[in-house]
Amino acid sequence: MKIGFIGLGLMGGPMAANLVKAGFALGVFDLRKTSLQGATWSEQPAKEVDIVFTSLPGPPEVEAVSKQILKDAKPGTVWLDLSTNSPEVVRRLHSQCKAGGIQMLDAPVSGGPTGAASGKLAIWVGGEREAYERCLPVLKAIGDQPFYVGPIGAGSVAKLVHNASTYTVQAALAETFTLGVKAGVEPLALFQAIRHGASGRARTFDRLAERFLRGTYEPAGFALKLAHKDVSLALELAKSLGVPMKAGEHALAELSEAMRRGWGERDSRASMVLQEERAGVSVRVPPEKLKEIT
Ligand code: NAD
Repeated sequence: MKIGFIGLGLMGGPMAANLVKAGFALGVFDLRKTSLQGATWSEQPAKEVDIVFTSLPGPPEVEAVSKQILKDAKPGTVWLDLSTNSPEVVRRLHSQCKAGGIQMLDAPVSGGPTGAASGKLAIWVGGEREAYERCLPVLKAIGDQPFYVGPIGAGSVAKLVHNASTYTVQAALAETFTLGVKAGVEPLALFQAIRHGASGRARTFDRLAERFLRGTYEPAGFALKLAHKDVSLALELAKSLGVPMKAGEHALAELSEAMRRGWGERDSRASMVLQEERAGVSVRVPPEKLKEIT
């Protein structure tokens, strides 16, 4: 099997190196002239290959490189875009590829340069399942956790949701840590308190599967009125210490709205229903499906 690889940056370099290590014949290209031991430099990396990978900064670079791929790749070639890209761009490129007999999969990765080097990477793939399954042995040389997510664009959506979750939570944690430290508690003690929680048995997101994904908020595990009281107390503390809490105020506004709806005795996660209403979408997983992942 012949493979082309475009973009040998922090992520692409080590991923391409792992493909070489797994014994694949690799033609590589990057705007910055560099070299990769065991691979051949190629000015037309999409020509006469079975698979071409791209690992580029973002949508403009992928769009630029797509022109060359569309020109050079033979029908039957699979293009796997490992970049974090826009779902809309990916879908447009997918239909352009289809017209030329090229199959495109969006396959953004998670795990950073360390994971790219060790092969401990999650890869979220969107596109034709048959093409995904055909490429699976190659994907496994790059990452130990490849997942088929759905049609083209689904991989990019999963990646954007992952990163938006990460940075939204980080912004909230920046607030709560500054509050805790200014209130006189050591950051390491706060870190341990937050990381393990009270029970130490379930991670924060695991609890979403129990409540939010099932849509069951009664009987309450932790009543919404208690969550409302706790966040109110935290914001009072923040105010007394002069710590701004933008995310905290948003959380309290959600809890207050849920209280006004009369949901005080329901589980505290019931306030998430407000966002489902606004977004006009229901986030539900059937219980038997949840059992498969918990
Ligand atoms: P990077 O900037 O280190 O690498 C990008 C490479 O693409 C560079 O070597 C650059 O020269 C090359 N390039 C740019 N335009 C090109 C073109 N037109 N033709 C050929 N080569 C071109 O970036 P990175 O950190 O390796 O990230 C790559 C992708 O992976 C991004 O979409 C990023 O969001 C995603 N990602 C990064 C990380 C991370 O921790 N760095 C983690 C997960 C996902």
